[in-house]
Amino acid sequence: MSAQGGSASGRKKIIQEQFDVLVVGGGPAGLMAAGRAAQKGARVALMEKNDSYGVKLLMTGNGRCNITQDADNMFEFVKVYKNGRFLLSAFNRMSPTNLRDFFRSRDVETKVEKNGKVYPISDQGKDVLDALYQYCRENMVTFFNTEEVIDVVRDGNKIEKIITRKKEISAEKYIFATGGKSYPNTGSTGRGFDWAEKLGHKVIQAKPSLVPIKIREQAIKDAQGISAHNIEISATQAGKKIATMAGDVMFAHYGLSGPLALNISRDLQKNIEKGEIKLSLDLKPELSFQQVDEIIRNDFEKNGHKNLSNCLKDFASPKMFDLIFALSGVDTHKHASNISKQDRLKITSLFKKMEMTVEELFGFEKAMVTSGGVSTKEIDPKTMKSKIVENLYFAGEIIDADGPTGGYNLQVCWATGYVAGESAAAATS
Ligand SMILES: Cc1cc2nc3c(=O)[nH]c(=O)nc-3n(C[C@H](O)[C@H](O)[C@H](O)COP(=O)(O)OP(=O)(O)OC[C@H]3O[C@@H](n4cnc5c(N)ncnc54)[C@H](O)[C@@H]3O)c2cc1C
Repeated sequence: MSAQGGSASGRKKIIQEQFDVLVVGGGPAGLMAAGRAAQKGARVALMEKNDSYGVKLLMTGNGRCNITQDADNMFEFVKVYKNGRFLLSAFNRMSPTNLRDFFRSRDVETKVEKNGKVYPISDQGKDVLDALYQYCRENMVTFFNTEEVIDVVRDGNKIEKIITRKKEISAEKYIFATGGKSYPNTGSTGRGFDWAEKLGHKVIQAKPSLVPIKIREQAIKDAQGISAHNIEISATQAGKKIATMAGDVMFAHYGLSGPLALNISRDLQKNIEKGEIKLSLDLKPELSFQQVDEIIRNDFEKNGHKNLSNCLKDFASPKMFDLIFALSGVDTHKHASNISKQDRLKITSLFKKMEMTVEELFGFEKAMVTSGGVSTKEIDPKTMKSKIVENLYFAGEIIDADGPTGGYNLQVCWATGYVAGESAAAATS
């Protein structure tokens, strides 16, 4: 690679026309885009500001990397996403099945777990990253790490060059894959949004998404450590229902976490500025109020001589009972036979309607993804090409399209990265 003199400041190396495609951001979207563009014959450079690639990718799925969701019907699949229709074409090109084939062909076998979550069989996110890295290497991608892009220079309707702390580089086509703003300590600080805006793109305000929920009531915070499976949460604001979802939650020292809390936070985020939000947990959604009450009444009759704290052993975890009894105010030292109907109904109600108030949602530092980003109206869904800037493409979380937990968000990165890489390579002369 030839360095051709200094910049206006005289300190920067200028590397010109060395590359057909220059990808900014070495996360899952950037790696996939770079590998695919290079596989299609383009000379590709990948710029990453960290000293290693895929820092956030290694954190996904608690290190196990939930790479995608098991799904066949893309038309149905995209419905859970923000701007899902925009994703349809890319998902048809790189569907979850295609993705699993892609990784299988690179010696990463995958498996499907509960709720359709797909993981590498090894349970090692590192295997996924290594396979992508190898994909780029075998197709001769030039890696520039510890290379932070600090500006993008425009010439008319095209990007002329990008400027890093050390160099200026130009290429025929550019792919922005700088991610969103969540977990900024991994390198995703939202710089790509600034450049897109500067280049004339509309950027939908970035908001933290898939975040844990802070709850006001102390008794809920005191219940940290409880996990509740297959429950249902309903959220209401000013008496109007704004969301209902089912899944698993964890009680934490600040409130609620776990997949269900993260997923419902997407709806809470849209409404939180409008006023107070109440949550109601149904711990037994498959049973009616009457059925729950009957189970409790039968148990109390059978175990009348026992303390309340020793009843209902098969119905919920001891920790969940501690919470329910704390909220009900019923004296757990009483024998079951001495519980009044009124107290029993209080307990039943808590199983079916445990109410709490949302205090706040966590911010970007704890958000799994960013909602918002470059408007999908200004990106061609078939190619990921900008409709505003002639030689620019987008891939991954920088695009205003996010989904729930469960592999949905990485699926966006793989599919848009693959399509952006392929189309950018095809468009080079
Ligand atoms: C804790 C956690 C767990 C998650 N688990 C899952 C999961 O199991 N399944 C799932 O589907 N999703 C998961 N996600 C979401 C998923 O990780 C993201 O959606 C995905 O990483 C986004 O990929 P990306 O390539 O678009 O951006 P990123 O992964 O954010 O990568 C962007 C890259 O660009 C680089 N960059 C930024 N600015 C510059 C610059 N100026 N110059 C050079 N480089 C720059 C950054 O350093 C970074 O490496 C999880 C997220 C978190 C935080």
